[in-house]
Amino acid sequence: MPSLQMVDLIGQHAKIRTELDEAIKGVIDNASFIKGEDVKLFESELSQYLGVKNVIGCANGTDALQAALMALNLPSDSEILVPDFTFIATAEVIALLGLTPVFIDVDKETFNISIEGIKKAITPKTKCIFPVHMFGQPCDMESIMNIAREHNLYVIEDTAQGLGSDVKFSDGSVKKCGTIGDIGTTSFFPSKNLSCMGDGGAIFTNNDELALKIAKICNHGMGKQYTYEAVGMNSRLDTIQAAVLRVKLRHLDEYNAARNQVASSYSGALNSISQLSIPETSAFANHIFHQYTLIVKDNSRDDLQNYLIEHNIPTKVYYPIPFHAHAPYNNYPHNLADLQNSIWLSDHVLSLPMHTELSEDDIKFITNHIINFYRN
Ligand SMILES: *Cc1c(COP(=O)(O)O)cnc(C)c1O
Repeated sequence: MPSLQMVDLIGQHAKIRTELDEAIKGVIDNASFIKGEDVKLFESELSQYLGVKNVIGCANGTDALQAALMALNLPSDSEILVPDFTFIATAEVIALLGLTPVFIDVDKETFNISIEGIKKAITPKTKCIFPVHMFGQPCDMESIMNIAREHNLYVIEDTAQGLGSDVKFSDGSVKKCGTIGDIGTTSFFPSKNLSCMGDGGAIFTNNDELALKIAKICNHGMGKQYTYEAVGMNSRLDTIQAAVLRVKLRHLDEYNAARNQVASSYSGALNSISQLSIPETSAFANHIFHQYTLIVKDNSRDDLQNYLIEHNIPTKVYYPIPFHAHAPYNNYPHNLADLQNSIWLSDHVLSLPMHTELSEDDIKFITNHIINFYRN
């Protein structure tokens, strides 16, 4: 019986262990732990990979969102549109900065923020849209950018789950996720597609002025040494993490391709089970499967999850409770009737193990148990 995990970093790192050890040793040898050479090099290598002018490393993906939002300097009564069904970081930083998150429904097929929902929620106070590329599937950025242009809104892309995916536009151009809006952010948390060995994050933008502001904000708002030009934060990418990321960035495309292979094997085995919906992939973008998330259409999700646990197959519910239903967020504007997909998905999603080291035998073991569960 295989020993299965949601994420297998031990297996992933074993294959590049010498490179990783050397990268970390290099930082220890010259003790440049803060703002060392590897940070600059990683920022420039990631900017080249993404095709974006500026990349600023920071301490984690949540700080990246916060620094991005701080740089926009929005009026205190601003409303910011966020998907109701995702990880809490987006709503959290909006609330933390005293601005108003407005919760928008997601599409059932893609788990991404609903374009109709965005249009419906825009008021004169709306200043910004926060698309989150859920589970590695890019949002409909062409529509979002059109709406943003029409209503003069900023767009901050949360690319924590979508780093490396491409979006194709109707004029034939192709852009990396996170480089389409005014600002993109990401996380290098260990479970992400590009991960470090602790916390890490980054912010990207083609706007040089915003880039300067963001770099300053991440370093206490400091201009010249000990001269403070903005209220900032202490949020830097450690040199050791940057050194690790430089090694792993060279493998990101290969890691995303491995995840795609796993997804297509899962989908091939599960697509005829009538109780399940396999993840849909949109024509305008490539999915990089941060998660492989099934929709269990009837009420069998929890029973399926328990059955799989009994057979040592881990699964996770990302995410069990929509934003609007958490106590600290309950008072922000939302209309329950408009959040039906978000509410429904919270009760019906189930994510399977997804990482770069899953073998065809592992996948068969997992899918055979799912098939057996529905045969009984
Ligand atoms: C992981 C994640 C974040 C936060 O990243 P941290 O590095 O853990 O702060 C933000 N948004 C989404 C969608 C994420 O998945």
